Amino acid sequence: MRYLSINGNRLWDTLEVSGRIGKFRETGLQRLALSDEDKAMRDQFVKWCEDAGCSIDIDELGNIFARREGTDSNALPVAIGSHLDTQMCGGKYDGILGVLCGLEVIRVLNDNNIQTKRPIEACVWTNEEGSRFTPPMSASYAYAGLLDVDYVKNSRDLQGKKFGEELARIGYQGTTTVGAHKFDSYFELHIEQGPILDDANEDIAIVVGGYKSYGMRIEFRGETAHVGPTAMSKRKNPLVAACILGEKINEIGWEVAADDGKSTVSCVENWPNLNGTIPEVTQLIIDFRHPNAEIVEVMKTKVEAAIDDAARKSNVEAKVIEIWSFVPNFDVDIIQHLHDTAKAISLKVSEIHSQAGHDAYGISYVAPSGMIFTPCIDGITHNVNERINLDHTIPGANLLLNAVVAYADR
Ligand SMILES: [Zn+2]
Repeated sequence: MRYLSINGNRLWDTLEVSGRIGKFRETGLQRLALSDEDKAMRDQFVKWCEDAGCSIDIDELGNIFARREGTDSNALPVAIGSHLDTQMCGGKYDGILGVLCGLEVIRVLNDNNIQTKRPIEACVWTNEEGSRFTPPMSASYAYAGLLDVDYVKNSRDLQGKKFGEELARIGYQGTTTVGAHKFDSYFELHIEQGPILDDANEDIAIVVGGYKSYGMRIEFRGETAHVGPTAMSKRKNPLVAACILGEKINEIGWEVAADDGKSTVSCVENWPNLNGTIPEVTQLIIDFRHPNAEIVEVMKTKVEAAIDDAARKSNVEAKVIEIWSFVPNFDVDIIQHLHDTAKAISLKVSEIHSQAGHDAYGISYVAPSGMIFTPCIDGITHNVNERINLDHTIPGANLLLNAVVAYADR
């Protein structure tokens, strides 16, 4: 087959432009979903795509589809996507590399005057990180019909601002029904966000599965009281329950750490969170995951028991007010096609299970989907020191390019 190559310098320059939009602490990004910085980056992406001759479609959750037409006007597109939002203290490549590789694929096709049979699309999914609005990957999961669109629109950030209102505010509430913009197939390239590839000095992994994960928002409800005169026996302190639970959640992760199980307490909200007053309500967000889906269910049973135990010990009420779970369903034919393409263009690949969640997880339930991982240095991610080496990224981008073009022409 004819081997197409991405333009590494152009990809790098594009990443650098993105790396200045929402710049945080010199080397990182703070580009929360539906913020002004997110809008600025979306505007830049749309402009790049229009300059490359693409038409733009935006759905009701702000997911963006930039289409390069194919020769068969009835054919569904082969899509390449990821996200442009970041964590609060995020890096320049998580998600962004995947979206901009999609754009680079389109630019390479333009450079070479190639018309594929099926259209090719570069896509952006709203709120992948979930750092501003829970759950994460909410817009891609809604696209896949796995989350209710109104539920996503009504999700609120810590300031109480609604997803739907913020989406309208930045001008990215489109009119296309969520999920109506169908794909032939979906490809996502992402940095590994772990150290396996970098440690092994390998450039490409084909993702064959993913750790099953659960996220929960737990609310403990007690009663405000004076911290002085209130007897210990009379207190209903939800923050104490949260502390007890937090330690137990960590233990549940350690119990399965040898098999690479993990658990996290990442977020606490406490009200009124003031000196002198026993708080009334405390919310915790927790996460746990494991390579073996059955063991995740065992972890879940332990978590539920720990929630009840923490509430009883603190004399407060407990409620799980939000729960989400992710596991991908990658397509065997796409995985095989990625292997075949890699072989045809002499690229060395390994196989890997993803530990982080990705937009491709949701999409994999409505379109045949596959993922490619490229290394990030020392596995550092969700951190301003997230870095990639271009020489170790180009092979994966070339695999994406050639696999997508062949799939669009099949
Ligand atoms: Zn990501």
